[in-house]
Amino acid sequence: MSRGLLLVISGPSGAGKGTVCDAYKKNCENHIWNSVSMTTRAPRAGEVEGESYYFVSREEFKAMIENDEFLEYAEVYGNYYGTPRAEVEKKLSEGTDVILEIDIQGALNVQENTTEGIFIFILPPSMNELRNRIIGRGSETPESLLTRFKSAYNEINYVNKYNYAITNHTVEQAYQDLICIVRAEKCRVTRV
Ligand code: 5GP
Repeated sequence: MSRGLLLVISGPSGAGKGTVCDAYKKNCENHIWNSVSMTTRAPRAGEVEGESYYFVSREEFKAMIENDEFLEYAEVYGNYYGTPRAEVEKKLSEGTDVILEIDIQGALNVQENTTEGIFIFILPPSMNELRNRIIGRGSETPESLLTRFKSAYNEINYVNKYNYAITNHTVEQAYQDLICIVRAEKCRVTRV
């Protein structure tokens, strides 16, 4: 059985990574698993422990760093986020494709720490649309909205560190692009 693909997906907050990945999972023809990250940030309304994230204290998170239990981790907007390594490795070795929805620092860490990974950046159609989407979520304070919006400008400069960029004009078109990328990667003969 061939090893699964490690799909590393980043993009600014509000670009629609989560929605595109959900649509992809519903519609793709492969075995796919979304890694559940660990975070020290507080849960948002409707978020479920073990599905959205594993919510832990800073102390618990730091202990896991000490034990080298993360494939990657980063501090984003003052909170830690990390990908527990063991489950990702298990799924890949079982032939299941794994999605990591992580920030850019995390994606760059994965590039340093492993030789695998298809790096995909999700872009919003415009900065104005990005702003509307973040506001529409209704979960941000004016301060955190500003922080996320400023970061988005910086983050977009990193797009050329990725193998592919998908502009999320509509979810339908964006997940179809993702399906095409994965199909192409499964036909790949060499990695150059
Ligand atoms: P949010 O607080 O909006 O759920 O996530 C904030 C940022 O943290 C997003 O860009 C998200 O992709 C990123 N993030 C979520 N989980 C991880 C993770 O395990 N590692 C890293 N490096 N970033 C993550």
